[in-house]
Amino acid sequence: MVKAIVGANWGDEGKGKITDLLAENSEIVIRFQGGANAGHTIINEYGRFALHMLPSGIFYSHITNIIGNGVALDIQKLTAELRSLLEAGVPTPQLMVSERAQLLMPYHVLQDSYEEERLGGKAFGSTKSGIAPFYSDKYAKVGIQVCDLFDDARLRERLDRAIEVKNILFQDLYHKPPVDAGTLYQELLELREIIRPYVGDSVTYVHQALKEGKTILLEGQLGAMKDPELGIVPMTTSSHTLAGFGCVGAAIPPTAIQDVICVTKAYSSCVGAQTEPFVSELLGEPGDELRRRGGDKGEFGATTGRPRRVGWFDTVATRYGCMIQGATQVALTCLDVLGYLDEIPVCTAYEVDGQRTKDFPVPALLGRAKPVFTTLPGWKCDIRGITDYAALPANAKAYVDFLEQEIGVPITLVSTGPKRHEIAQRK
Ligand code: GDP
Repeated sequence: MVKAIVGANWGDEGKGKITDLLAENSEIVIRFQGGANAGHTIINEYGRFALHMLPSGIFYSHITNIIGNGVALDIQKLTAELRSLLEAGVPTPQLMVSERAQLLMPYHVLQDSYEEERLGGKAFGSTKSGIAPFYSDKYAKVGIQVCDLFDDARLRERLDRAIEVKNILFQDLYHKPPVDAGTLYQELLELREIIRPYVGDSVTYVHQALKEGKTILLEGQLGAMKDPELGIVPMTTSSHTLAGFGCVGAAIPPTAIQDVICVTKAYSSCVGAQTEPFVSELLGEPGDELRRRGGDKGEFGATTGRPRRVGWFDTVATRYGCMIQGATQVALTCLDVLGYLDEIPVCTAYEVDGQRTKDFPVPALLGRAKPVFTTLPGWKCDIRGITDYAALPANAKAYVDFLEQEIGVPITLVSTGPKRHEIAQRK
């Protein structure tokens, strides 16, 4: 059976922690979209890690970790990350890289930064890791698959074709130096030897595993709001962040996904450009305080170190996020962070042009949405590490009950700290 672990919001919901936890009782963990542009923080017996390319099952030797065909594969980042895990004492993991995955190229990274530079103040707030150019190339059919690395003539031909267009763009639009196809070709031949031991037919492997009744976790990157179809266009990422895309990006049959665990934080956080509408945002000193107290080391990007924008829990966005993810259950993280507050506002509706709504508006209207808050009492104590749900203060449980009622999906897991076992089963 397949369980997808995906984000209900803007990303950074704590999916890495939940995946690392659920991997204990699973056999396979698959990354199915995105690349090294976001990080999943995991804190376990080996230390604190921000994983960018590797699936979050990588700490268990019983798990087969798969980089699915839908991922933007950065071989250098992957191997550097693998090396840093081994140096930290993590046992040699089982890793398979899909032969159908495509390669994130140095020219994607260059194009990303050239384009952000060109846009100036109107930039998207990209992490400049080449994700948008990578997916554009995939759909323009000029991407290079891992399997192409093992066919010299095909590789050279595909590379020449991709670079021909890139160089026109680089020189004539961005006024930058051209990329040398020959040099890059030689570099790729070296990279293929590094990746060779991991390359496999993940499609057949996964289908066989399903026949054998194995449990597979699909690990999503970012969250529903960042989906390029149904998210806050254009402030999205360039690959689909929805569980449904797991069928494509991990080659899973649609009917095999039986459980969609949507992860959401007990407050909101959002990375990216300031221009993105973020309706329940908390500004000024109260926002700074929540940012300082949030997550395990404050709300700062795991990849970029950028301060994340923070806000109150947004039930309008989260209900929509859970709906488009097809959530069967919700994991609520970071409840412990809110213990310092006397009272906690929750955004329960938006007002758009004088009309109140609980339905998430289209991007063109979102910038005009004003939050409508309901305020709940705080619990004013430290609940960090509580694993018995019943032992939580009454006001903390009332807060969870309220969120569940508003989002309409059972909240089954309540995380009370960043470490693997700091979590309470609610249902
Ligand atoms: P992901 O990309 O969805 O895996 O999320 P990130 O790792 O980017 O961000 C989540 C942050 O919250 C990280 O700093 C985690 O260590 C932290 N975290 C996860 N669950 C909890 C929790 O229950 N309490 C606290 N205080 N921090 C948590």
